[in-house]
Amino acid sequence: MSGPVLIGVDTACQQVQAVFTTRRGGAGAGPFSSLGLGAANGDDPAAVRANRDAVAQAAGFDASRAVALAQVHGAEVVRVGEAGGDGRFVGSLEGLAEADASVTTSPGVALAALGADCPVVLLWSADGVAVGAAHAGWRGLIAGVLEAAVAGLGVPPHSVRAAVGPRVGPCCYPVDATLRQAMSDRFGPQVVNGDAVDLGLACIAALRGAGVEADAISVVGACTSCDSERFFSYRRDGAATGRQAGIVWIGESA
Ligand SMILES: [Zn+2]
Repeated sequence: MSGPVLIGVDTACQQVQAVFTTRRGGAGAGPFSSLGLGAANGDDPAAVRANRDAVAQAAGFDASRAVALAQVHGAEVVRVGEAGGDGRFVGSLEGLAEADASVTTSPGVALAALGADCPVVLLWSADGVAVGAAHAGWRGLIAGVLEAAVAGLGVPPHSVRAAVGPRVGPCCYPVDATLRQAMSDRFGPQVVNGDAVDLGLACIAALRGAGVEADAISVVGACTSCDSERFFSYRRDGAATGRQAGIVWIGESA
């Protein structure tokens, strides 16, 4: 095993580090092969803990203070203090707060959000004083999770930067007419592409609506369903599949 394969994010800010994980370079087997980071989807907890620890070592954050959430497709934002996750990121994997977004101003506290097709969106202020991570599937997007996360940073929205992670592309995300209409009503007709919804464009629209500048948003060009070598995909593989993550933190020496 050569270690976790990560996608680095250029934050244009020395203090802020951000990565998206892939499915490669972990300890998991079968449908969870191999870098599964989700605790609630049938993956082996020992493999998940080992993978989370390996990602922390490879990326350079403190696993004992890192935070993951019990995601519920809502718009709640958890404000994380200096203690961070109290070891649960690599410990019991239980007792996590039920929410889909987290924010912190504490250096050294890494925030993780998980997805298998749903976009993970990482946020940070240009001056590096605040960071946030959000799980933004269609339910969360419509509920307003990204607008809530941007507001939760507590900085002017025009100073917020964002990275939209790997997600199921419009090539692989046909949905019913009701959902297409709901997404179009909420985010504009550009998010509907034939019989599919473009979750990346919906994330951009939500961020723009929250006051984030267009040139402050970067988007990883990847479809989780098309790229089975690199990513887990719920749509492609069904319920028994792993989760990749987006992780953001303020460096300790900031
Ligand atoms: Zn695709």
